[in-house]
Amino acid sequence: MEKIHTTCVYCGCGCGLFLHVEDGQVVGVSPSPSHPMSRGRLCIKGWLAHEFLRHPDRLRTPLIREGDRLRKATWKEALNLTHQRLSDLLDSHGPDSLAVLTSAKGTNEENYLWMKFARAALGTNNVDHAARLCHAPTLAGLGQAFGSGSMTNSIESLGQADVILVTGSNTTEQHPLVASYILEAQARGGTLMVLDPRRTQLAGLADIYVPTLPGSDVAWINAILNVIIAEGLVDREFVDARTEGFEQVREVVSRYTPEAVQEICGIPAQRLREIARIYAEAERSAIVYAMGITQHVTGTDNVQALANLALATGNLGRPGTGICPLRGHQNVQGACDMGALPDFYCGYQRVLLAREKFEKAWGLSLPEKPGLTAVELMAAAREGRIRGMVISGENPMVSYPDRERIKEALEALEFLVATDIFPTETTALADVVLPVASFAEKDGTFTSTERRVQRVRKATDPPGEALTEWQVTAELLSRFGIETCYQSASEVMEEIAALAPQYGGISYDRLGIEGLHWPCPDVNHPGTPILHGQAFSIGRGRFRAVDYRPPHEAPDQEYPFLLSTGRSLYHFHTGTMTRRVPLLDREVPGPSVEINPADARNLGIREANRVTLESRRGRVSARAHLTEGIPPGMLFMAFHFQEAPANQLTASALDPLSKMPGLKISAVRIRRDDQ
Ligand code: SF4
Repeated sequence: MEKIHTTCVYCGCGCGLFLHVEDGQVVGVSPSPSHPMSRGRLCIKGWLAHEFLRHPDRLRTPLIREGDRLRKATWKEALNLTHQRLSDLLDSHGPDSLAVLTSAKGTNEENYLWMKFARAALGTNNVDHAARLCHAPTLAGLGQAFGSGSMTNSIESLGQADVILVTGSNTTEQHPLVASYILEAQARGGTLMVLDPRRTQLAGLADIYVPTLPGSDVAWINAILNVIIAEGLVDREFVDARTEGFEQVREVVSRYTPEAVQEICGIPAQRLREIARIYAEAERSAIVYAMGITQHVTGTDNVQALANLALATGNLGRPGTGICPLRGHQNVQGACDMGALPDFYCGYQRVLLAREKFEKAWGLSLPEKPGLTAVELMAAAREGRIRGMVISGENPMVSYPDRERIKEALEALEFLVATDIFPTETTALADVVLPVASFAEKDGTFTSTERRVQRVRKATDPPGEALTEWQVTAELLSRFGIETCYQSASEVMEEIAALAPQYGGISYDRLGIEGLHWPCPDVNHPGTPILHGQAFSIGRGRFRAVDYRPPHEAPDQEYPFLLSTGRSLYHFHTGTMTRRVPLLDREVPGPSVEINPADARNLGIREANRVTLESRRGRVSARAHLTEGIPPGMLFMAFHFQEAPANQLTASALDPLSKMPGLKISAVRIRRDDQ
């Protein structure tokens, strides 16, 4: 049996695994013992990563809409129609009537080519992807503080921390392999503190678990900094030598005494003092966060407030320190790196500053104005300003907020082309559907949450007539008159390396089993597991004072509960792949609403009763699950399930800086269905 080394298709941990191939078919998975991060371990999803590959639902031929049905078509028909309809819209309504949504599930090479397609072929910067709905505040917040909106340290470095503060991250379920390093640090004698509205599994294992009130993050983080300053725990040497803006922050956080904020965040003043002392007094303290911090209309402020803590205590640039935003998809970091963003080319080169460089490289003129972000694009489609859209491997019908309005937006488009490996709620609305290869059927690279660029290796052929997505984009580019001569995905990486400074030294030959952490500026560079060691790329680290703002929506008499959404260990994102894996589907076969037993008792709800949840945007029905892990007054729902799409309930109110919707907070009411 042949064993092909590749990278897991699911989360941002980026575990290494082998695909076992027999008679041209992938028949199993085993962990990669020599992979430096996963070290011979996988979570349940990784062990079953091959199981959806031969599912009978796989898309095998291109499809073209005829009335209310999709009929089989040839590639030539589908690509010609795509070219013709997008060109017509381009001629009649201009480039900014078009948009491209790329995929954090796609490889770097695919994201790079879709980004190039949007800008070079369609002439628009309207290009974005799922990072907008998970870590756009990280890009904005850490980018402004440190000059790089990425995880500062490697995952392995977490194992060396003396103190780890985890907030807004259900780490053992969402990033199980990262959790293993956190628990290793604790086993070595480190202190694990978890601050989160939900009592997650990691919270149960923590030395200190502090429940917080949803949406109060800036208040409690500022209070911690208030204590650090008041008690003389600031690393003055670091602040003086390497940062700027401390005095403004000192002034603002002086108002956030523990006593002043304890009502807002629900944390007793003494507890806030204790957390501040533990974090600031340790030699090496790290912060880990995920979407519980970012998916708010104050997401960028939350991230910046955490960055202020690290800057004030000098917890940057060394093993065991830093700030670790955990990315959801396996390649959401890479999709950002590749410039699938409306204001950046690959390598975080601003559209406003780097246009000439890319015009020269690609040999044509490029649009000047930054484009719209993902949620803005949907609003523009609803209003008829966006008329044509390419959606590569995303399923906004399930993953975007306020589903009814997303449906209106996609239905209002004059032309929608979608690529995917399975039919989805989004491909069902498309005019052209293009079948593409899964991770096991193509070559390429993923960049994990720790900036590790790793190989994805082809183990088997795609089913039917499905093509790799880089071939599809290359075909479309040439139909639009853009010269391409890529013979393989590695040649696309050569172009990326020539244009994105962080990837300058990356080539397939160098990646091997371990991959390389970017920045890796030249072919002799060993990669950079820890950023900001000697200096920040922007010179000095920048403090920015942030004030607490209340959430966009609060429970009231009509909608008395606060709903938070997220994921489960057994499923991934919109469930396109995991819901077709029998073992995972058996573990969690359908949607449920987590409710505190006291609330359930008051409402006459028992375990597994069918309940209806309603917000100002819509309603869904699911089974109740009673758990002490959720505090009274709060509900939780995973968003994987199209039969009860949690995003029917969420709002599209945006963080003004990053345009992240406030997905973690929705006011809802709940009732038993038979009442
Ligand atoms: Fe895959 Fe993430 Fe599980 Fe690792 S932790 S096996 S990358 S899903």
